[in-house]
Amino acid sequence: MAVIDPGSRTTGGADASSGERDFIAATDPRTGERLGLVPDMTPGEVQAAVAEARIAASAWAGVPYRARAEHILRVRDLLLDRLDEAIETICAETGKLGVEALTNELLTACETIEFYARKGEKALRPERVSAGLMGHKKALRVFEPLGVVGVISPWNYPFILTMTPVITALFAGNTVVVKPSEVTPLTGRFIGELFEDAGGHPGIVRVVTGGGATGEALVRSGVDKICFTGSVRTGQRVMAAAADTLTPVLLELGGKDPMIVCADADIERAASGAVWGAFQNSGQTCMSVERVYVVDEVYDAFVDGVVRRTEALRQGMGRGHDIGSMTFPPQLDVVADHLDDAVRRGARILTGGKRVPGRPGLWFEPTVVVDVDHRMKLLSEETFGPVLPIMAVADEEEALRLANDSDYGLNSSVWTRDLSRGRALATRVHAGNVCVNDVIVSYGVPGLPFGGTKTSGIGRVHGLDGLREFSQSKSILVDRFGLAREAWWYPVPGPLEGLAARTMQLRYRRGLANKARGIVRPRRRTR
Ligand code: NAD
Repeated sequence: MAVIDPGSRTTGGADASSGERDFIAATDPRTGERLGLVPDMTPGEVQAAVAEARIAASAWAGVPYRARAEHILRVRDLLLDRLDEAIETICAETGKLGVEALTNELLTACETIEFYARKGEKALRPERVSAGLMGHKKALRVFEPLGVVGVISPWNYPFILTMTPVITALFAGNTVVVKPSEVTPLTGRFIGELFEDAGGHPGIVRVVTGGGATGEALVRSGVDKICFTGSVRTGQRVMAAAADTLTPVLLELGGKDPMIVCADADIERAASGAVWGAFQNSGQTCMSVERVYVVDEVYDAFVDGVVRRTEALRQGMGRGHDIGSMTFPPQLDVVADHLDDAVRRGARILTGGKRVPGRPGLWFEPTVVVDVDHRMKLLSEETFGPVLPIMAVADEEEALRLANDSDYGLNSSVWTRDLSRGRALATRVHAGNVCVNDVIVSYGVPGLPFGGTKTSGIGRVHGLDGLREFSQSKSILVDRFGLAREAWWYPVPGPLEGLAARTMQLRYRRGLANKARGIVRPRRRTR
């Protein structure tokens, strides 16, 4: 038996000839303790899971929306019964705090289920569409399940980022095969168990464990859509592999979220928001605050407020702490590399800047950096760790220019006491999501579609758009009167050409069309 430790980036394949198989080790990043082993599944096993989900798909697609909702609510009840186990599993695999697992992951999942159970059905109801010139027809748009959806999820929020696409695809009438991150497979398995234990509809959620090769096998397995959440680099690979079979993809990728602090912002609130937005989940959030642009006038007060709050943070395990450990060993190398590069180019670290001394596990101090600029990796690449770089700018226009000077466009924030100015600035930030006077939490509103622009992704989860992402839009045109023939059928009637030309003139020549609709433009006076 070969054991693969995902953190060490070792790879291996099952030796088919010896009948041996590979396993992946789940590890507690807070202590380095091994939590358990899960199989590193082969493409054959992925195919088998997809085949089972395909069998379940035809029955599940026939279940009415209300009954699907009832089943998913039953799963939520089971989750509430097993909340402590859920929190323990998530915290042990990620190193985050219980309160983070509870609020950011489990509560948000329950709320998303609530939203779709109460409000989702209308997104999938047939829509009547104007038939235009063909008034004797009825035009309809209906939404049908896609079939089997493949969900590939990352390690930073292993519960919510798996559960959200899973339940959305299910509400839309699909079945799902999930490939959780190899760093957090036990949380993925826990989700699979909830659906199994709920009974009633076997096979609607299948979990396949493994690394990148297992994920790629899922992309190539013939599923009807892939919902991938992860890094830009892997997202590109997923899209390239999906192109071979023209499998549609929904991509939720990385971010480098900017925060713009205007001169009239509430600086105390902005400093608190920046510290929480940068350090919760140890900065391993796709929507972490990764760059702050502060207008000169309030720069010193803001930096002072941020440093004071950062130095007061309590890092550790369990209750009574504000920040837990990091999750993924290679991520600490990225953080160290970005800081080294920034310092080499003239940045100053005001607090933090290194691994917590004398402590085993993946602990990195919350770090505030100033005198930064866009030549540095810290301002241009995703750091995904507890580091907050702050840059002074002359005014909001410079802040906007720098905020938009990025390949990413996931979330962002604008801070001002003038809410109409905040909304106006929000429209000018190139990102899929903007918060005014807050950070990150727009994801916690399940009615708001969430997703990225630029390299941060394609498509939307959440909201009614989210349900439609997992549906096939089908257009239906029904002839209403059953006439003997249509005017354009064979043999072509002699007057058809003239009639069509006259109709076009009447319908589309704007002066005439307006007259016909009773809209008369005032005549221009001629001298
Ligand atoms: P990752 O890209 O390394 O891995 C994500 C998943 O893809 C894992 O399950 C992995 O096993 C799988 N995978 C790896 N290679 C694959 C391949 N060739 N084909 C198919 N699947 C493959 O990402 P990660 O390190 O787990 O997560 C961190 C990244 O995710 C960050 O960039 C973060 O910003 C991003 N993220 C985005 C969102 C969002 O909603 N936009 C949310 C969370 C995380």
